[in-house]
Amino acid sequence: MTISSGELVRRNAVFAATGAFAGLPFPTSDTLQVLGCVDSRVDPGDVLGLQLGDGVVMRNIGGRITPAALREWALLGRLGGDQSPGGHLVILQHTDCGITRLADYPEQLAGKAVADPYAAVRIDAAIARHALPPGRAVSGLVYDVATGLIEIADPATGQ
Ligand SMILES: [Zn+2]
Repeated sequence: MTISSGELVRRNAVFAATGAFAGLPFPTSDTLQVLGCVDSRVDPGDVLGLQLGDGVVMRNIGGRITPAALREWALLGRLGGDQSPGGHLVILQHTDCGITRLADYPEQLAGKAVADPYAAVRIDAAIARHALPPGRAVSGLVYDVATGLIEIADPATGQ
């Protein structure tokens, strides 16, 4: 069941009344950065317990490192002006991901491993470490939708 615009406005009024948004600094390159899947069950803010201002979150199908995702993270690194890109990029993938249902469309996945999220996140972390400028720590986590727990599949390097 979808949520109406009116309901979203009502929910936003509750949020606005908390004042949690006030005075937050604009995120720069030296912050937590999370790449997660669009699946509504695995919102990185909820899964990782993030509060507003804790990190920059990007989501795509599968939480995969793609050429588009790399371009976005590279641009984000420039928001800090002359600062060298830093921070910690967390790639968050999960069990029972819908991307496994796209295995019949390999041309859309550019040969990516999709059946095993632990293998996939290690591949993506390696790609990110190689493709992004140095100075940013990269780690790969897998969220288990059955237990609600995350596991570090590929620990951070570069910190
Ligand atoms: Zn997914």
